[in-house]
Amino acid sequence: MSAATRKQSSIQRAKTNLFRYRKIGSKYVVTNDHGAYVFLDEAELTLLLNGRVKPGTPLAEDLTAKGFLVTDADIERIAADYDRRVSFLYRGPVLHILVVTLRCNEVCRYCHASRASLEQTETDMTVPTAEKVVDMALSAPSDTLTIEFQGGEPMVNWEVVTHIVEHGLARAKDLGKRVMFSLVSNLSLMDEDRLKWLLEHKVQISTSLDGPQDLHDHFRKIAGGSAYEHTVRWMRRINEAYRERGMDPDLYHVEALATITADHLKRPRDLVDEYVKQGCRAIFLRPLDPFGFAKHQTERLAYTGRDFLAFYREAFDYILDLNRRGTEILERLAAIFLTKILTPDDPNYMDIRSPCGAGIGQIAYNYDGNIFTCDEGRMVHQMGDEAFLIGRVDTNSLQEVVTHDTVKALAMASCLDSIPGCAECAYKPYCGTCPVYNYTEQGNIFPQNPTNDRCAIYMGVQDHLFRYLMDGDPQVLDIFRRWVEVKERPEYLHDHRSL
Ligand code: SF4
Ligand code: SF4
Repeated sequence: MSAATRKQSSIQRAKTNLFRYRKIGSKYVVTNDHGAYVFLDEAELTLLLNGRVKPGTPLAEDLTAKGFLVTDADIERIAADYDRRVSFLYRGPVLHILVVTLRCNEVCRYCHASRASLEQTETDMTVPTAEKVVDMALSAPSDTLTIEFQGGEPMVNWEVVTHIVEHGLARAKDLGKRVMFSLVSNLSLMDEDRLKWLLEHKVQISTSLDGPQDLHDHFRKIAGGSAYEHTVRWMRRINEAYRERGMDPDLYHVEALATITADHLKRPRDLVDEYVKQGCRAIFLRPLDPFGFAKHQTERLAYTGRDFLAFYREAFDYILDLNRRGTEILERLAAIFLTKILTPDDPNYMDIRSPCGAGIGQIAYNYDGNIFTCDEGRMVHQMGDEAFLIGRVDTNSLQEVVTHDTVKALAMASCLDSIPGCAECAYKPYCGTCPVYNYTEQGNIFPQNPTNDRCAIYMGVQDHLFRYLMDGDPQVLDIFRRWVEVKERPEYLHDHRSL
């Protein structure tokens, strides 16, 4: 049998793989479980649906290359592609969030953490609890872990932050692991000595920046001054300190997160411009979480998914325009989806993966030693509901925590293959659902997608991205490719694997 005949007969034996589709403009985006996509017109989709794609045609070749038509020879390659996409499942909890205090020196209208006042020192994590937390976090099976300091304002409990880093480094060395530390701070308690210590100990620094001064200061109050001025002054100083140490400013700069309120929806360009002005290379346009104080102030803060999408599209198109004109800034929500759409990898963003990271990808440790599926589960606890409590550092092992019935329930509730609506959705290979959000908003850890705002937002964002991909403007495709490049930041990494 000639090579040509062999190829022809293998195409003839091709079977149609599981696929899903959705209409975008005049075409359909068709996707499969291992994340490949193709745009088909109605006639082509009908051929695929009816199993009548003619072997040897360019359409058959394209569908075979992308795993929509499968022969026995393709099975191993497709299984390997799928395995790579869900490789996060083999790593266990890699993100360990430590709430070292609930105390905070700022008062934010939407506070997710349900802060405590500066006098409430009983909400500080103690040194013995901190050591137990670090020992549990580092007992996770992955050889690379991130310890993230949250609050409250973590710098209020500075002694415990520094002790955790030092204890964590000693344990990582004993165990031969790689560890990263990340501090999420409003920066108002920063000083030169603390900055020097953080730089010497390679602690990554992130902050909250809610847009221009009037917006930021409207939502974040600090006694005797402007919260915005504290934040941007230290953002500039920290970025300058990175440059003084010869660190590449494209890789090393303060990362900022915005909380998007109803007021922000009217000012998408102002928000983006502020991020560019402060030297940020990324902005994360995430909808407001309905947890913490924000839950009680919904009239002043909340909005519908439709309102958020209108804001998102305007901000996103503006960000693309800036990039076209030479200002490099990426939008993180888009970059998460695009990484899944355009590359063989999953970026392991805990809230947009299937199943989500609750307990199996991340764990949150409260100041008092209570352990939660994630920081959002802890915030629900602060509102008086223990649904996401999965153990205590002084009485449970890591194995007991990650195999807790609540962790299993959340994994089931966020596994999109079994969720009505998601199981048939073209965006299933790239999407995620949040059981804590669903529980808080819809009274059930399983989403009710037709009325779920988060689903509407994710669907709208992915529609927007696929429209751009279908248009195929080379300049936009080039920007998207830059956004999905993986950039290592070794200066934040303590690598003890070979010691
Ligand atoms: S429950 Fe929600 S917040 Fe928690 S890890 Fe899952 S998606 Fe993220
Ligand atoms: S959450 Fe919505 S957009 Fe995402 S896969 Fe499910 S149905 Fe599709």
